[in-house]
Amino acid sequence: MKQIEIQGHPDFDNHESVVFESSDDLSAIIAVHNTGLGPAVGGCRMFPYASLDDALTDVLRLSRGMTYKSALAGLPLGGGKSVIIGDPQKDKTRAMLLAMGEFIDSLQGQYVTAEDSGTSVEDIAIIGERTRYVSGVLDSEKYGGDPSPMTAYGVLVGIRQAARYRWQTDLSGIRVAIQGVGNVGYHLARMLVEEGACVTVADIREDNLKRVQSELNVEVVSIDQILSAEVDVLSPCALGGAVSETTVRQVKAGIVAGAANNQLAKASVGRALRDRGILYAPDYVINAGGIIDVYYQRCGERSGDVVNRHIAGIGTTLETVFRLADEQRRPTCQIADEMAEKIFRNAGKEAAQLTQYAYN
Ligand code: NAD
Repeated sequence: MKQIEIQGHPDFDNHESVVFESSDDLSAIIAVHNTGLGPAVGGCRMFPYASLDDALTDVLRLSRGMTYKSALAGLPLGGGKSVIIGDPQKDKTRAMLLAMGEFIDSLQGQYVTAEDSGTSVEDIAIIGERTRYVSGVLDSEKYGGDPSPMTAYGVLVGIRQAARYRWQTDLSGIRVAIQGVGNVGYHLARMLVEEGACVTVADIREDNLKRVQSELNVEVVSIDQILSAEVDVLSPCALGGAVSETTVRQVKAGIVAGAANNQLAKASVGRALRDRGILYAPDYVINAGGIIDVYYQRCGERSGDVVNRHIAGIGTTLETVFRLADEQRRPTCQIADEMAEKIFRNAGKEAAQLTQYAYN
């Protein structure tokens, strides 16, 4: 394990620790952003990054997002993330996952992992053979394992809230375009169809498209058409950076609300969305359902009612973010950042009050 020199990296944000492992079996980075509210919890992503720097950028941004997400979701958790450099379709081996388990264990609980894009519940179970610092697999019959359905449920709650805020309507007949129908996008498509929404999807993976097409009444478009689809809601559920200074001009939807982490290529895109009259549900607020689920799995108190009630709080928090952003004429992502920072930087009395405010 090596400490990485990251001072001066554009995405360095006073991360507490960033470590790198490179061996015959594994090339991976773990970033711990902030543990002020509790242990750093965040998924393990596997992706064929073009360079070590691309992987570092991703893990720095993702781990920071986890701190903000858990704080605003009212959870006593910090923010961390890990990335494995490699193609999950071709490069994944049991030896790699066991080595990842040892790497995580060497941090002695400072970082707790779960599944993410490119890893599955089964992969995390293998990692868990070498470390107890895993979530999402603990007695999967009892606790449910994969958090993706709960993430999708939180996104559904957020889309409902955004539609109510923007158009005073429910989701019946609302047109939603989902970019990426993997773990989360698939469940979201199903839930939206059940609510009477008209769903359009795109994905680069044929198998994922076939699954959703065979089970649901959805329209399929190419990956080049999804961002500019004539819809009411655009839901990015693939990887980060979907909405950039360039692609924001193509968006015809009135709401952007999806599961993907780091949907905005740069923070300044938040202003561009506002200037175009598009209501943006900040990614780490709306996609907190999974981490809420993982939290209850770990503390062993998981019951459908408790988790669902907590996830329903995402709607209340978003309503506050939307209202403050309109009152102050500022991007929703700036408002959410400030609310989260107040919680994790002043962990204490004020934090408890804000958390109550967000979830009561
Ligand atoms: P996933 O890998 O299962 O699904 C992503 C899907 O997007 C895949 O089907 C992939 O083929 C597709 N895709 C990739 N690039 C694309 C493109 N350019 N156009 C269209 N489709 C494309 O991942 P997931 O677990 O569903 O997570 C999706 C996003 O949500 C990720 O950004 C993840 O970090 C975030 N997220 C996931 C969870 C969770 O519980 N799984 C929780 C919070 C946030």
